[in-house]
Amino acid sequence: MSENLKRKSFIEVKIDSDFPVENLPYGIFYTNENNSPRAGTAIGDYVFDLSAAEKNGLFKNKELSGKEIFSSKSLNRFMSMGKKFHKEIRKEITDILDENNSLLRDNKKLRSECLILQSDVTMCMPVEIGDYTDFYSSKDHATNVGIMFRGKENALMPNWLHLPVAYHGRASSVILSGTDIIRPKGQTKADDAESPSFGPSRLLDFELEMGFFIGAGNNLGEPISVKDASDHIFGMVLVNDWSARDIQKWEYVPLGPFLAKNFATSISPWVVTMEALEPFRLKNEPQDPAPLPYLKSSGENSYDIKLDVLLKIPSSESAEIISRSNFKFMYWDMCQQLAHHTITGCNMRTGDLLASGTISGPEKGTYGSLLELTWRGEEPIKLSDGSEIKFLRDGDELIIRGYCEKDGLRIGFGEVSGKILPAT
Ligand code: MN
Repeated sequence: MSENLKRKSFIEVKIDSDFPVENLPYGIFYTNENNSPRAGTAIGDYVFDLSAAEKNGLFKNKELSGKEIFSSKSLNRFMSMGKKFHKEIRKEITDILDENNSLLRDNKKLRSECLILQSDVTMCMPVEIGDYTDFYSSKDHATNVGIMFRGKENALMPNWLHLPVAYHGRASSVILSGTDIIRPKGQTKADDAESPSFGPSRLLDFELEMGFFIGAGNNLGEPISVKDASDHIFGMVLVNDWSARDIQKWEYVPLGPFLAKNFATSISPWVVTMEALEPFRLKNEPQDPAPLPYLKSSGENSYDIKLDVLLKIPSSESAEIISRSNFKFMYWDMCQQLAHHTITGCNMRTGDLLASGTISGPEKGTYGSLLELTWRGEEPIKLSDGSEIKFLRDGDELIIRGYCEKDGLRIGFGEVSGKILPAT
């Protein structure tokens, strides 16, 4: 990135911060002083309170006037207003925070109303999610799981290279980072058992994923084309799609996952916009066989987003990295996923969440689940305290961090975390 594209804010941003002025992710938060959830953007160690900024007349955009759009308890209304509007607002926020703009910089009262330390806020669910779909778009992940569940010969199902496979997930249990995960109970059946048994899942796993939110939706009966898809994608979050592998194995034929994945899906609190991710756009890997025309992508819809998976066990003070992956390992891109999802005329609504599916790279250290990292528990991971882990145990905390880095610019997602509590 050339120097003249870089911006500087009057708010100090540390070099390793996820939130320089080029990021400006959207989130919902409240404070002890004002417990109404409202919209803000992260800048350095601060939250810029967009609701306070709006009330103080800092925005010039006429579409905003009088609507108090940033005072809602979700981003949905703002998200529904379309790309052109989002770009205008992003530019206004960038200008307000610019080092050369005295408007907020030199107004002590305004600053105290609009800028709050992130350590003094509580983050909330950013979006009211109507529907949640989970794709299965990493070829390495699908191949690994296929080998384990069906053997090497039938690893990839015949449809996999022709369409982005997905299932309809459960929106009600999409939860915010930091929310504890209660170990689910369910039916499982060991290979050598005659009949199934019931109890707490013993093969509890994480799934390293990312998800995108629908901004403006589409009408029923009017598919979104690959070419127009990016106009409907508001931004992205980190996703951990917790999975109970033993429940999954017994229930998934023939309709796919159900209870194995409906108890919790965690997301990170800050929604990073596609505008912020633009410098990290990549060419897709070529697809062979070529997809059908309705799925043909521009070939430049991939993103270089580094993803670290960390595990913190109760006996350890700090978390340790168990995988380093990247969003660029996806085979099907977000535009293809959206085009495929709507090709029947299915309508997307503002706030719908579409997740990537587990992201695994080609090598073992880049896998996005314990199922793969420990190869079904056959190759446990050795932790620094000498202990071994196959699947998640009570008290374990799983943390996913995501960030892009290039030419001194870092755009981060923060993290999504969750701790396992015993079954009730
Ligand atoms: Mn998943």
